[in-house]
Amino acid sequence: MSDNPSSKESATKTTMVYVCSECHNENEMKSRDPIRCRECGHRIMYKKRTKRLVVFDAR
Ligand SMILES: [Zn+2]
Repeated sequence: MSDNPSSKESATKTTMVYVCSECHNENEMKSRDPIRCRECGHRIMYKKRTKRLVVFDAR
C-alpha cells in the first residue's frame, strides 16, 4: 500500500510579502511580479521575513 501524503506542493506560486521602506505598506507579490509599492510606487522594499533590504531599481 502506498499512501502518499500530498501535502507538499511544488512552490511555483510563491507569494512574498514586502514592506515598503517609504510608507511601510505591506505588499503581497508573486515572485514574477515587478516589485513596486502599490501605495506610493516606491521600489525599495523589505522582505518581511528575512528583513533583508531588497532594492529594485529597474530603469
Ligand atoms: Zn510605499
